[in-house]
Amino acid sequence: MGTLASAGNRRHFDINPAYFRVMARIVQKFGGTSVGTIERIQAVAKRVKAEFDAGNEVAVVVSAMSGVTNQLVDYATKISPLHDAREYDVIVASGEQVTSGLVAMALQALGVPARSWLGWQIPFKTDAVHGKARIQDIEVDELLRRMAAREVPVVAGFQGVAEDNRITTLGRGGSDTSAVALAAALNADRCDIFTDVDGVYTCDPRIVAKARKLDKITHEEMLELASQGAKVLQTRSVAMAMSHGVRVQVLSSFVDAPGTLVVNEDEIVEKEVVSGIAYSRDEAKITFVGVQDRPGVAAAIFGPLSDASVNVDMIVQNVSEDGKTTGLTFTVGKADLERTVSVLNERQKDLGFARLVPDSNVVKVSVIGVGMRSHAGVAQRMFQTLAGKGINIQVISTSEIKISVLIAEEYTELALRALHTAYGLDQDEARI
Ligand code: ADP
Ligand code: ASP
Ligand code: MG
Repeated sequence: MGTLASAGNRRHFDINPAYFRVMARIVQKFGGTSVGTIERIQAVAKRVKAEFDAGNEVAVVVSAMSGVTNQLVDYATKISPLHDAREYDVIVASGEQVTSGLVAMALQALGVPARSWLGWQIPFKTDAVHGKARIQDIEVDELLRRMAAREVPVVAGFQGVAEDNRITTLGRGGSDTSAVALAAALNADRCDIFTDVDGVYTCDPRIVAKARKLDKITHEEMLELASQGAKVLQTRSVAMAMSHGVRVQVLSSFVDAPGTLVVNEDEIVEKEVVSGIAYSRDEAKITFVGVQDRPGVAAAIFGPLSDASVNVDMIVQNVSEDGKTTGLTFTVGKADLERTVSVLNERQKDLGFARLVPDSNVVKVSVIGVGMRSHAGVAQRMFQTLAGKGINIQVISTSEIKISVLIAEEYTELALRALHTAYGLDQDEARI
């Protein structure tokens, strides 16, 4: 029976001749850098062995070695920019096949019984949206039997199989989602996501040196951080952890230290007004000049884009000065820019706009915090801080716990660091 059942805080009680022991069932996921070299793979095997030797049931999920997926995507794109998405998936899923075999071998070399599992062998059943498939079901009975018999499954992340037996992939960063989904299906006590940073920070620590590691973060905040660009966890993995009650921890595979726990809001006593700042360079802006100001225009513009599977993110429409024409600006993912421009230009006559101005030199910066629900002045602080640095805001969008602005890309670092300081997030500083 395959399930993605809600994981409770289930524990196995095992009577050991010498003492009573509480065992746990753990999913350990290792990202690209953590399995980036043979030495690192051997270090990963030691880490898995330590959990296994402690008497726990362990399932491992692996990514491709760092850089491999990019290389595979590049191969596919060079053969054909408008490639067959089913063949793309066959190509890009192969990186995880290599690491699942290598990690299983490294475990065997340490005397730990292990075997590799590809998505289709388990199977991880997904829908047929190639390149961005969603997991529908995971058959875990065989894995559970083998784990109970003291074997470690090493599962290739990022991949699954559609109903027609074709290989699918889950979108970039998707092995996080493989791990959380497996943890849910196995009813695991914990899902540890090992990566190259020791937890979730208030901002990407590679850009903001004063970023602070969070001991805990709420699901909602993590969801917003991830969806606004913090790639430390894939957005879908957070949504899945939230809906299935999986206990996720983000930690480093290079140091032995606790990481960041992703928890429910009621587990955090002191709620921050702003707990994190994210950025996304994957944005492109399109401005319409001289759009007719009449009912139905927005529908006429965004309808064809939705038919072309283009996701529109931020939208702003200017007030009409002459009552006849207006300006409209919106953003799409960088990869969709060309397609968007061509879809809209084809309809220039029907849509009746004068000009269309594309701009991919933009970045979206977002401040996030559940405390925003009850605090005023958060947006104002953002606007003032950016103004103080001479940074022009091009588009603004807000949600209950997030404010996003679009600015010129060259100001990314400056904006992130200034905002980080302005919200009192810098290390060794009291928070607002
Ligand atoms: P993996 O290959 O292990 O999946 P990723 O590269 O996908 O690792 O994610 C880890 C990276 O996420 C870090 O190296 C860091 O640069 C980036 N990152 C972005 N925002 C954050 C944040 N708020 N906290 C921690 N890391 C972040
Ligand atoms: N290897 C895939 C990627 O680079 C999946 C992952 O790392 O999570 O996107
Ligand atoms: Mg990742």
